[in-house]
Amino acid sequence: MRLNNPENQPPAATFSAQAPLVDNFHRRIDYVRVSVTDRCDFRCVYCMSENMQFLPKADLLTLEELERLCTAFVLRGVGKIRLTGGEPLVRRNVMQLFRGLSRHLGAGLRELTFTTNGSQLARYALELADCGVQRVNVSLDTLDPEKFRAITRWGDHAQVLAGIDAALAAGLKVKLNCVALKGGNEGEFLPLTEWAHGRGIDISFIEAMPLGEDAAHNIESYLPLDDVAAELSRKLTLTPSAFASGGPARYFDVAETGGRVGFITPLSHNFCETCNRVRVTCTGTLFMCLGQEDKADLRGPLRASPSDELLHAALDEAMRRKPRGHDFVAQWAGQMAPARRPMSMTGG
Ligand code: SAM
Ligand code: SF4
Repeated sequence: MRLNNPENQPPAATFSAQAPLVDNFHRRIDYVRVSVTDRCDFRCVYCMSENMQFLPKADLLTLEELERLCTAFVLRGVGKIRLTGGEPLVRRNVMQLFRGLSRHLGAGLRELTFTTNGSQLARYALELADCGVQRVNVSLDTLDPEKFRAITRWGDHAQVLAGIDAALAAGLKVKLNCVALKGGNEGEFLPLTEWAHGRGIDISFIEAMPLGEDAAHNIESYLPLDDVAAELSRKLTLTPSAFASGGPARYFDVAETGGRVGFITPLSHNFCETCNRVRVTCTGTLFMCLGQEDKADLRGPLRASPSDELLHAALDEAMRRKPRGHDFVAQWAGQMAPARRPMSMTGG
């Protein structure tokens, strides 16, 4: 059965509450990343300026609204929800949202997970595990506390390592995310991989994307992940893995450690063709693509009526506008203006 209309025509019925979300390129959208706050206790150089201005709290969706929105996505066949930010664990009472969403696990939702800088993990790890969260992505770009401070500006390295320990002790499967930065953490990729694999932790490397007010800085510090693979290959043997996480990473098994390394390469190897995800900001704005400006307002339909009819119609309409892919390469080459919003708005 063809779920989508190839001529870009709207389907006959505008409200289709249980129909899966499929875009005009026949991609089934079953993964949503929800940024629950734009605030953060770090100021990573590739993400935020030091004097970042945050949104007024009144603009944010309430936790109840976020839960209702996520529930609507689950009804549309979304099986994986990743809470992110900003730093998701600094949102007040965020555990209420985790607990609320956990009731969908096994009832449409396959996985509830989140991405964190790790600063608050020690405090919440046990409760998260109790909510049915099984995996967490922790961002860690270096094992060197001084470099860590230079990259995150405000981060406390020891606190993050304690958070990782607490997550492991609570039984969560941890994966590290490391942004590769020219002049920032070169030479750290091998020790970080060995450190992670020694603890049963997989690691993914990410190319710095030209996003945010200081996109020019990210363009300067862009390091192709082929360079990371070259550093690792000096000591480790990487072979393509059959593993797929449902996200954009391509995985490799490492013979010497028994661990896995992922490469997220939005610039050097475009993966848009198989994109299965969309992103929602903490104000209820839906971005159909991380690298494009087009967006859809979900807060209006959410607040306009206690029934979800308008919300589902807005989702259907947004699916028809999901673009074929990002333009990071043209932006990097200066042929197009980068998206002004930082990663902390749309989440990673
Ligand atoms: N605060 C949490 C954290 O740092 O994990 C969650 C939000 S953060 C925006 C999600 C991920 O985006 C992090 O792994 C971070 O390193 C990554 N990130 C932020 N800005 C980026 C950029 N310009 N290019 C590539 N990755 C970026
Ligand atoms: Fe905060 Fe994460 Fe952005 Fe760093 S990458 S400033 S931890 S939101």
